[in-house]
Amino acid sequence: MTTRLAVLGATGSIGRQALEIARLHPDRLQVVALAADRRRTELAALATEFGARALVGTAGLRESATAGDVDLVLVATPGFAGVEATLAALGAGKDVALANKEVLVVAGHLVRALAGGAGKRLRPVDSEHHALWQCLEGVEPRHVRRVALTASGGAFRDREPVELASVSAEEALQHPTWTMGPKVTIDSATLVNKGYEVVETRWLYDLPYDRIDVVLHHESVVHALVELADGSVKAQLAEPDMRLPIQYALLWDRAECPAPRFDWEQVRSLRLGPVDPARYPCFAIVLETARSGDLAAMVGLSAADEVAVDAFLRNEIAFTAIPGMLRHGAELGAHEGRGQAPELAEIVAIDRAVRESLTLPAAAASR
Ligand code: MG
Repeated sequence: MTTRLAVLGATGSIGRQALEIARLHPDRLQVVALAADRRRTELAALATEFGARALVGTAGLRESATAGDVDLVLVATPGFAGVEATLAALGAGKDVALANKEVLVVAGHLVRALAGGAGKRLRPVDSEHHALWQCLEGVEPRHVRRVALTASGGAFRDREPVELASVSAEEALQHPTWTMGPKVTIDSATLVNKGYEVVETRWLYDLPYDRIDVVLHHESVVHALVELADGSVKAQLAEPDMRLPIQYALLWDRAECPAPRFDWEQVRSLRLGPVDPARYPCFAIVLETARSGDLAAMVGLSAADEVAVDAFLRNEIAFTAIPGMLRHGAELGAHEGRGQAPELAEIVAIDRAVRESLTLPAAAASR
């Protein structure tokens, strides 16, 4: 059977790799819609190649996500832009392969209400959630004692914390093990990304925060671990290459994949260890906000992170200014919210209010 696919964020890192998978499985995947806001020339060329529609802007995202001839929507646009499109797709009865982090961070409760957790309708594309999906297959929820996501530690894992005030955007974009888009790469350097993945795990697998751990693992080969009631630990291993989780989410089976095979005859060490919270203040702020249960605060934090990462990438703020902005965003979000789980319209309003209040005037934007 052919799955008719829409790719949102078609010209980004995940979108391009998804199209590589689609080229390898033309009998399984028919690309019918492609949406992107950047690299529009490339978008037009891809649309011609696949015989698909090319759509741009927020309206384009929504149209691709809900079109009558679409079965599966890959949401690979970064940031808040993916939230509305994901909810629209699920509301229209589409299956969603989710690569966007912010969707579950700001609207996990709404996504869960529409689609439940990870499964046919909601397919996580992230390597860690893909790994959990594999490890939890066939396991009764009551037998899961705890899970762990692995973290590479990002671009500055070996830097002295005192040096971080002067690191540049160019340095932060050098991820040690993964090649990804700029937002996710900066979020990996601050470990905001891993905090978000903890929140996503909560919504995808219905686990309380005190049973979701994060462990440092420099090699990015072990992607997640699951400890069962009897003490047995399952892990998923693969070379760091997103084409495996992308393909699994798109095809949902064990078809041949172009990602490199794991060579177990190669002598190597795989190290695991704790995350040092002093090195990653942003990570602590995300977890603290998540554990508070204040969903509006998390919306504010996520909006602040997008503003902060943008400003850092434009060399307008120091790397070490990011945690203060996150905390401020969470406080603003909590203030804007009313202590209840926000509906989509409130999420949009909180997001906008926090962005407006945090956007720096040009004059104050020097370091
Ligand atoms: Mg990840």
